[in-house]
Formats: sequence, structure tokens, C-alpha cells
Amino acid sequence: MALSSSSKYDCIVIGAGIQGSFTAYHLAKSGKKTLLLEQFPLPHSRGSSHGQTRIIRRAYPEDFYTDMMEECYQLWAEVERESETKLYRKTGLLVLANAGNHAFEVVCENMKQRQIPWESLSQATFKMRYPGFSIKPGEEVCNDINGGVLYADKSLRAVQGLFQLMGGVIHDGEKVTHIEPGPVVIVSTTSSTYEAEKLVITVGPWAKKVLSPLGLQLPLKTLRINVCYWREKNPGDSGILQNLPCFLGMQLNGDQRDVYGLQSQEYPGLIKICYHHGNEAEPEERDLQVKDPKIPDIQILRSFISNYLPGLHPEPVVVEQCMYTSTPDTNFILDHHPLHKNIVIGAGFSGHGFKLSPVVGKILSELCIGTKSTYDLKPFQIARFQNQ
Ligand SMILES: Cc1cc2nc3c(=O)[nH]c(=O)nc-3n(C[C@H](O)[C@H](O)[C@H](O)COP(=O)(O)OP(=O)(O)OC[C@H]3O[C@@H](n4cnc5c(N)ncnc54)[C@H](O)[C@@H]3O)c2cc1C
Repeated sequence: MALSSSSKYDCIVIGAGIQGSFTAYHLAKSGKKTLLLEQFPLPHSRGSSHGQTRIIRRAYPEDFYTDMMEECYQLWAEVERESETKLYRKTGLLVLANAGNHAFEVVCENMKQRQIPWESLSQATFKMRYPGFSIKPGEEVCNDINGGVLYADKSLRAVQGLFQLMGGVIHDGEKVTHIEPGPVVIVSTTSSTYEAEKLVITVGPWAKKVLSPLGLQLPLKTLRINVCYWREKNPGDSGILQNLPCFLGMQLNGDQRDVYGLQSQEYPGLIKICYHHGNEAEPEERDLQVKDPKIPDIQILRSFISNYLPGLHPEPVVVEQCMYTSTPDTNFILDHHPLHKNIVIGAGFSGHGFKLSPVVGKILSELCIGTKSTYDLKPFQIARFQNQ
């Protein structure tokens, strides 16, 4: 059966999280007739892009992310202008680590070399500025001065709205059930069938499920992240909530993973502090209660809070769930399907993809259109998993 012209697109993007939405936005900006398909009615909170806030920073141990952030800040500002919506709040981003921590040293070096506004804080200065934060002898702090908060839900809405203003089409509540590769890709959903010369797959924690029928097994792990909100023991006393910027504790408190925190937008008066790791779970099982989790993430946070933020009550007031989709090296996957070159994949954002989504979307759209990227895409290629 021949499809009507309204079912034919230059490009189809599957998944209207922040990565798919930014990809669709860039495709529409390039003049491509684009369809963005989403399985759930929008907005929804089942994937990885929901909630009020995400941290934005240039402080990265991998210099290629620091470099990408330069353009990301410009693109976030462009979206703010185009949508007339405030999406970014500058607070500064404190990075704390034990002296000699290699990743911390590289973070500082990357910012220094690129003349990014940053400062190294002595223990005395830190204690004076943030008396509620109990730093330990032998620990070091730097401040990524332009770090801060992105308003996540508002960002998603703004990018999708701009995409539609440019003529882009969003079909939500339509799950993709089958993809037929070929020179023209045929995409079947729960309610219709579409075709396009190019397809982009950005389905977050559903990547394995969507990609395996296309013969692609990627080493992705989906992790349930407990998003925890904490309150002061005596509201107003510790001064923590008044002026604390975003922070990233790198491998502190004897732990191998990071802890991060930011003022809560969702629940005024609470602070959001999370462990940058979680237990494996399918996205559909995300909200199931687990009695004895393999990784005691909330217990780790309780201990962190008792030691570093003693003015907070060491029991979360609210715990919500979100999903990470992690690669073994925590770097993203931005590449063509190895066999079907007109299918482009964006996956494995490993819990740090939101801030980078403007450039991720640009790269995925360039891979789709066939424009050469200005970025070195080697760290993001599927071929790096060949021996895994
Ligand atoms: C708790 C938490 C804190 C985070 N903090 C930060 C931070 O501070 N800074 C930062 O930069 N990043 C952060 N991140 C990471 C960032 O939010 C994610 O990297 C990003 O949101 C991933 O977006 P995505 O579009 O890949 O996935 P998603 O948002 O999950 O979008 C994928 C979409 O695909 C849809 N889909 C799936 N299958 C189908 C199908 N068959 N048919 C149609 N649609 C389908 C899904 O419904 C979903 O809407 C955090 C993540 C979490 C969970």
C-alpha cells in the first residue's frame, strides 16, 4: 500500500527526550521535513529528561566535553532568546576532591588551559563562604564560575515548541513497534506507518530494546537513580540552602563514585543531592521498591550528608526515580548504525547528557544530513566496543 505524502518525511526521530528534541530542532533548522515520534503522551516522566533541574558545567575531566560546552552555552542562550524563556541560572559549580585526585587535577587543568572563568578556593575561603559545608583536611575545591542550573522541563518544552514553530511535526502517544531498514526506512507505530530517507534513534533507556531487532547489541546498562531531596535540621540555621551553588563531590567519603547536589526547584526549601550511580533496572521496573539494593545508594548519601553537610537531616524527605543509560566508559554513543548508514543512533548518555544536548542534537543532525562535524567523533563511535 502506497503511503500518503503526509506520512513521508526527510527525517524521522524516535524519542522526544532532550536528545531527540534537540536533534529534531536542528534538522528542522536545516530545512528538513521532520517527524518526532514519542511513545508516551507529552509531557511525561518515564525517561531521563523530566524534572525541573539539571547541572550545567564546563568542569569535566574529558577535555572534549569541556570543548563541546563552549558551543552548548551559546546554543542554550539562543534557545532562551528564540523561546523567550529563561532556561539557565548561573550559580557556580563547586568541585570537591581529595588532594591528588587525578580527575580533579585534570578538571582544573582543562579550565585553566582554556581560560574558562574558574577559581581554586583555599580551605579558609571555602569555609568562610560556605560554613554549612564541612570540608575535611586534605581536600581541595575549585569553582567553575559559570556552572549552574538548567531548567529541564522548561528546556524540553522550549525546544519542542521551537521545532514545531519551524514546521516540525510531533506525534506523541505513538510507540514505534517496527523499523524496516532500507534506502527508505519504514517506521511502524501503534497507530500508523511512516517513511523517511533518514532515521535517528534517541530512545534513552529503551535503546537496547529498539536496537536489538536491528541486529545491534550495545553494552548499555540502565540504572535506576534515586533522586533524593533533603531538608535542614533547623530551617535557616546552617545557611546551606541560602547560598550554596551546585556541587560535585568527586570520590569523597571513601567512595569510588561522585555525589552531586543543587538547590531544589521542585520542592522549595529542600536541596537535591544524588549519588551518581544506581542499581540496574529496566525502565518499566523503575518504580518498583527494592528491599536490599546491591548498591546501597541512599545509605551512601546518608553517610555523605552526615559528614559533609551536618546541618541537613540525614534522611531524604522525598525520593523520586529517574533512569541513567550508561556505557562502559560513560561516553556517549553518537554514530551511524554499522550496517544501515541512514540510521543514526544517539544513546548511552550515562547520566550527564542534558547540558550537552544542544551540541549532541547538532552532531546527530549532521550525521543524518551527511555534513562533516567540527567535533572529533572518535570517543563516541560504536567501534570502540568491538572487543566487548
Ligand atoms: C536523576 C538524573 C540526574 C541527572 N542530572 C544531570 C545533570 O545534572 N546534568 C546533565 O547534563 N545531565 C544529567 N542527567 C542526564 C540527562 O538528564 C540525560 O542524559 C538525558 O536526559 C537523556 O536524554 P535522552 O533523550 O537520551 O533520553 P530520554 O529523556 O529517556 O528520552 C528518550 C525518549 O524516547 C522515548 N521512546 C523510547 N522508546 C520509544 C519507542 N519505541 N517509540 C517512541 N518513543 C520511544 C521515551 O519515551 C523517551 O521519551 C541526569 C539524569 C538523571 C536521571
